[in-house]
Amino acid sequence: MCLNHNENTPNPSHFEESEGNNAPAHRDIAWNEYSELIKGMRFFDPHIHMVSRTTDDYQAMYQAGIVALIEPAFWVGQPRTGLASFKDYYSSLVGWERFRSSQFGIKHYCTMGLNSREANNEPLAEQVMEILPLYAYKEGVVGIGEIGFDDQTPAEEKYYRLQLELAKKANLPVQIHTPHRDKKKGTERSMAIALEHGLDPSWVIVDHNNEETVKSVLDQGFYAAFTIYPFTKMGNERMVKVVEQYGPERIMVNSAADWGISDPLAIPKTAALMKMRGISDETIKKVTYQNAIDAFGKSGQIDVSDFEQPTESDHTAKFHGNSILRGGQQPVANKNSLLIQ
Ligand SMILES: [Zn+2]
Repeated sequence: MCLNHNENTPNPSHFEESEGNNAPAHRDIAWNEYSELIKGMRFFDPHIHMVSRTTDDYQAMYQAGIVALIEPAFWVGQPRTGLASFKDYYSSLVGWERFRSSQFGIKHYCTMGLNSREANNEPLAEQVMEILPLYAYKEGVVGIGEIGFDDQTPAEEKYYRLQLELAKKANLPVQIHTPHRDKKKGTERSMAIALEHGLDPSWVIVDHNNEETVKSVLDQGFYAAFTIYPFTKMGNERMVKVVEQYGPERIMVNSAADWGISDPLAIPKTAALMKMRGISDETIKKVTYQNAIDAFGKSGQIDVSDFEQPTESDHTAKFHGNSILRGGQQPVANKNSLLIQ
């Protein structure tokens, strides 16, 4: 099950500090260095917050072979003050952002959920839970997420449990955000609670893993997602080592790019680095494309024919009367790039 996994190799608890290991955690790679290496590869980013990203990002992602993505519902950097803000945000994930993505040739899916931070505002969380089912069943919603723990408070646990029940009822996979503080404890607790609620672990994607958490996540039958961070935490060099140690089964890579310093091209760059390190194309495809489709495809919402063939976007298309074009702009589309003049 875990290819190349050697039981005798200790799982380093603090990878960067491992004795005798001076390898960098991350390597930034320029487009001219990696474009040839990933030529013809297709990528699926199962965690990226496009609402915070620019049209340049969409164009670069398309050019680098990202054909589809999942945008999880999350917090927006500051606490929302009322239910209407949640409604508008959820509507944008199934509406405008989905349309905007399509205009750049990328298929957009999302997960719906109440994030752990805002679960701590209980009066508002109660109202959000009432409207969530209205969005969970919309077209393009491939899971309940990203949910789980932040500070690991009782309120976070309460709304995590309620949303696991919603996922069961809606027959949707679950995308778990694991906390950055006390990660190991929070990850174990998230998985134990999911199992307690009777979820099939193959329907649960545990995100933001590292070398400390991955073995237990895989051993218990969950999917293990890894967020590649350009400067801190999990870098692409570390990711290559994880794949070398554990193999490709139930592992997936994502960018989690959002409003902070992050890299929407994290997946193609990691794929190129894997290729440089001699990892097979088959393994690269699993962790950067196929496993995400297998996991979130359980929702019944993903039809690969929507993105496996290159499509021409109609840049004059409109969403509720609005297009991505600004006054006087003329779109020029060809199959290698999208330009707006
Ligand atoms: Zn996220």
